Order: sequence, then structure tokens, then C-alpha cells
Amino acid sequence: MENSLRQVQDNYARIRDEIAEAAVKSGRTPEDISFMAVTKTVAPELVNCAIDCGISLLGENRVQEYQSKKDAYRQGIPVDFIGTLQSNKVKYLIGNIRMIQSVNKLSLAQEIDRCAAKHNIKQDILLEVNIGGEDSKSGMTPETLPSLLEQIAEMPNVRVCGLMTIPPPSEDTRFLEAMQELFLKTKEIQLPDTEMSILSMGMSGDYAQAIRYGSNLVRIGSALFGARNYQK
Ligand SMILES: *Cc1c(COP(=O)(O)O)cnc(C)c1O
Repeated sequence: MENSLRQVQDNYARIRDEIAEAAVKSGRTPEDISFMAVTKTVAPELVNCAIDCGISLLGENRVQEYQSKKDAYRQGIPVDFIGTLQSNKVKYLIGNIRMIQSVNKLSLAQEIDRCAAKHNIKQDILLEVNIGGEDSKSGMTPETLPSLLEQIAEMPNVRVCGLMTIPPPSEDTRFLEAMQELFLKTKEIQLPDTEMSILSMGMSGDYAQAIRYGSNLVRIGSALFGARNYQK
């Protein structure tokens, strides 16, 4: 069941405190960590409640759902796209979305570059890494990442700002650790006009751990809004 406004307020306060604690434990400040609210299936009323609490970044998974809900959200709040994206839908995002976090292949980056050129903008993106090497998941592997990064960094209308990942479920922290290592290694590659400052890692179940392994953007859905109901 979706949460009430009161539950969202309580959850927000609790998660914000846990993020702050994990930030300090890893030698950073709470302001160093972005707390994204993931809005899939969530009623705009609850999303706006989270914004009123202090959320300043939203994450959307589906182009159609984004389009149908965006006008109901408080205006002026940046939205990132975090879901699987087909090239033919890129055109609906460019000019509206702050960042596309789920760039998982070269052809998608090429389409983003092409659409961004039409809008005369440079589109910020993250590269999605399949850190567990799972067949079921999209994303670049640690092996293919460096060469793809070099090719994408050359695109004039795309700016690579960092990495995103959805690690496989795990009893231990090995994938978080591997991702931190990969992020640090990738930052050392010298590339034109590329900052590599964002590591988007951590969801409802593992955000505090993810921050301890270097994440500076956590994407939180169910811990904030309650369990999702996909039937609606
Ligand atoms: C749904 C989703 C999340 C949030 O998941 P929760 O476990 O509900 O916090 C984060 N990132 C991506 C890419 C998602 O699709």
C-alpha cells in the first residue's frame, strides 16, 4: 500500500538522517550526497509532499509515465531519467530532463548526442555499469566501459558526468566495493570536457552502505513512498 503524507514525511526525515550519518562516516558532509526520490507508480500528490519535505531531485523510469505526471509535479524540480531507454524515445526527454543516468550502449549515446544538437544543448549523462555482469541486465561491463567512455566523451553534445549502477542482490558489499574501485579508476582517464563527479549507487535497501562505498547520489523509492503498486 502506498504511504500517507504523514508516512512520507516521517520516512523522509529518517532517510535524510541516515544519509547524513553515512556521509559523515565516510568523511564527507550531508550536502555532498544527493537524495533522489524515485517516482515510478507514485501519485503526484505524494511526490509533491516529498518535495515539500526537502527533496530536490526526482527520478523517472518510464517516458510515458513521466510525460503524464510531469505537469502535476511542483515546477522547477529537476528530473533525471533512470530507466531503460529506447532510442526512439530520447526525443521526448531532451530539453526536459536534467540528466539521463541510464546510458547503457553506444547507439543510445549517439541518439542523445543527435537530439541534443538539435536543441543546441549539451546533455548531461551517466554511463550505466552492469557491475555484476548479469545477463538479464543492461549496462556496460567494467571491461567495455573505458573504450565506450572514450568514444562517448568525444561526442560534442553529450557530457559524461559519472557512473550509475544497480548492483545484483548480495549478502556482502563486494559489488559496491567493485563499483567504487571502477569509479576511481575511471576518474583517472583523461578525457576532454568530462568531469566524472557523480557515482549514482544505492536504493532503498542499501543506500547507507552505498554511501560508505563512495556513492554521492542515492535513488530511493519504496523506503520513502511505500511498496509500489504496479496494477494501477
Ligand atoms: C525503482 C528504482 C529505484 C528505487 O528502488 P527502491 O528499491 O524502491 O528504492 C532506483 N533506481 C532505479 C534505476 C529504479 O528503477
